[in-house]
Amino acid sequence: MYIAPLDRLVTEFAKLPGIGRKSAARLAFYVLNQPQSTAQQLADAILQAKEQIHYCSICQNLTDEDPCAICSSERRDRSVICAVETPRDVIAIENTKEYTGLYHVLHGAISPMDDIGPDDIKLKELVARCADGVQEVIAATNPTVEGEATAMYIARLLKPLGIKVTRIAHGIPVGGDLEYADEITLGKAIEGRREL
Ligand code: ZN
Repeated sequence: MYIAPLDRLVTEFAKLPGIGRKSAARLAFYVLNQPQSTAQQLADAILQAKEQIHYCSICQNLTDEDPCAICSSERRDRSVICAVETPRDVIAIENTKEYTGLYHVLHGAISPMDDIGPDDIKLKELVARCADGVQEVIAATNPTVEGEATAMYIARLLKPLGIKVTRIAHGIPVGGDLEYADEITLGKAIEGRREL
């Protein structure tokens, strides 16, 4: 349908998450209409991000320096580690400004269905970190079957080491209506209730 170089560009854009062939074509035509320098900036940004960003050797979050800014910050509470599935979860929690401890990015969750076992995510690295002065690990994995299984696994690994393992509470969204919450969410909210 397209001339070869354009088809190649559309095909590459269509590989991006959430981009169908139609949106890919729109992006490709947009790039074609830009000056050479704009196309160069886009290409450079992609390559530089790939070259300069790697995993922090301590928390496994994405970083361009090692250790990352959070791991090397004097202001963070080193006795608590919040374990999350992805780097995006770190950003989400940081945006709340409620948490001052450290993080650990697992890069996934245990999922036997997808053949992802404990050794396929960064669990060994988490256990290794728990040697020095860590008192609590917050299992902040997603409230999915895989996330729950991972949280249970973390508890099983770390409790024998004398580390308190906590789970983030799940429940009714702020501004939400009990009547409209699904049973599982409402059930979890009741289960995770706390004293006022
Ligand atoms: Zn780090």
